[in-house]
Amino acid sequence: MPVEERVFIAGAGPVGLAAAANLVRHGVPVTVFEAGAALNEESRASTFHPPTLDMLDELGAAAPLIAQGLIAPRFQYRMREGVIADFDFAGIAGATRHPFRLQSEQFKLTRILHEALAQKPEFRIEFGSRVAEVEQDGAAVHVTLDRNGSTERRSGRWLIGADGARSDVRRALGVEFAGFTWPERFLVVSTPFDFYSVVTDLVSVTYIAAPVRWHFLLEIPGMWRVMFPLAEAVSDEEATSRAFADSLMAGVVPGIMNYEIAHTTLYKVHQRVAKSFRVGRAFLAGDAAHLNNPLGGMGMNGGIHDAMNLTARLAGVWNGSTPGQDLDHYDRQRRLITLEHIETQSIQNKRNLECANPDFAAELRQTAADPQRGRDYLLRVSMIASLRRAAELG
Ligand SMILES: Cc1cc2nc3c(=O)[nH]c(=O)nc-3n(C[C@H](O)[C@H](O)[C@H](O)COP(=O)(O)OP(=O)(O)OC[C@H]3O[C@@H](n4cnc5c(N)ncnc54)[C@H](O)[C@@H]3O)c2cc1C
Repeated sequence: MPVEERVFIAGAGPVGLAAAANLVRHGVPVTVFEAGAALNEESRASTFHPPTLDMLDELGAAAPLIAQGLIAPRFQYRMREGVIADFDFAGIAGATRHPFRLQSEQFKLTRILHEALAQKPEFRIEFGSRVAEVEQDGAAVHVTLDRNGSTERRSGRWLIGADGARSDVRRALGVEFAGFTWPERFLVVSTPFDFYSVVTDLVSVTYIAAPVRWHFLLEIPGMWRVMFPLAEAVSDEEATSRAFADSLMAGVVPGIMNYEIAHTTLYKVHQRVAKSFRVGRAFLAGDAAHLNNPLGGMGMNGGIHDAMNLTARLAGVWNGSTPGQDLDHYDRQRRLITLEHIETQSIQNKRNLECANPDFAAELRQTAADPQRGRDYLLRVSMIASLRRAAELG
């Protein structure tokens, strides 16, 4: 079978398409195989951190995304008694061209990237094409595609597995996905209810710490997403009922009535990292490589950081400006960063909201009050510190 002079990508999610966009930008021909019949339009990630926006800017995607999103210059921690601490991204204006969080649904990014890529001769996408098996030799990667029951074998030079949490590429490569699943599930209630009219000093990204009923409020254009942890004992049926959502929302706004629920999303939460992000000519990126709880919005962001790190190297190797060994730095940098920063910070964020550390509120107040500590904290939560650490690793 002839080897196509292309990089193959499994998955047209935010990570697969960001990887495609960066390769195409460097003149590398790409074919994306997407299992679905169209791009996924589910309501999932909605937070873009400052350095992710800096990267998307290089792909020409930041400005259109910002135009369709909501800029959150501050975020806040509260307890029942009121605000504990407020953080303003202006404190890290020297470290990013986008000193704010952008609240916008991830499907807007995939649409923007896909529309721009569709104009490029180096880009091809094949929908309804699930990468089911992967084999390789020293010169090429051979994938078996499942297209509605019929199979086809294709060969390309490299493969990026950006095929999400249940990655077939990861399974086919035999890479262990070590970690654990939290016993509680998370419920997201999306509502256009105007929280500003009833919660004093609210900002568009607000975390409310409490031992059992902690939750957070995220505003996206025209909607709020309110996220709650759910005890194991609650059945899926009960959790997605209107009565159950009402009982949770009454804890957010006492006496709330006659508000609209646009939709509810119930999901399991994992903390897992693949044992390796590279096997020969195949790589894992995004949810295929790592999963974490959504506190701090690091899943998709970390995945886009993977995509940009990997494809900058791959483009260099493709164009002959970088030696092949450079590709090993992808696994070294991104896997370590995922373990050191993304997993650690997201678990810490969850513990803080659960009030696991009784000194949490006092420490957070001190951090917010001290400019240097506040700046370091912002660099960590915005993921800039993790990217600086990756660069140090060489
Ligand atoms: C409710 C919810 C809220 C979230 N909120 C946030 C947040 O605020 N911030 C954040 O950073 N993250 C958040 N996340 C996580 C975020 O959605 C993921 O990290 C992100 O989607 C990962 O992108 P990805 O491209 O790696 O994978 P995906 O978005 O899962 O895309 C994978 C793509 O691959 C396709 N595919 C699957 N298998 C195959 C195959 N074998 N062959 C070809 N194609 C295949 C799928 O159809 C899909 O299109 C949230 C997740 C959920 C569920």
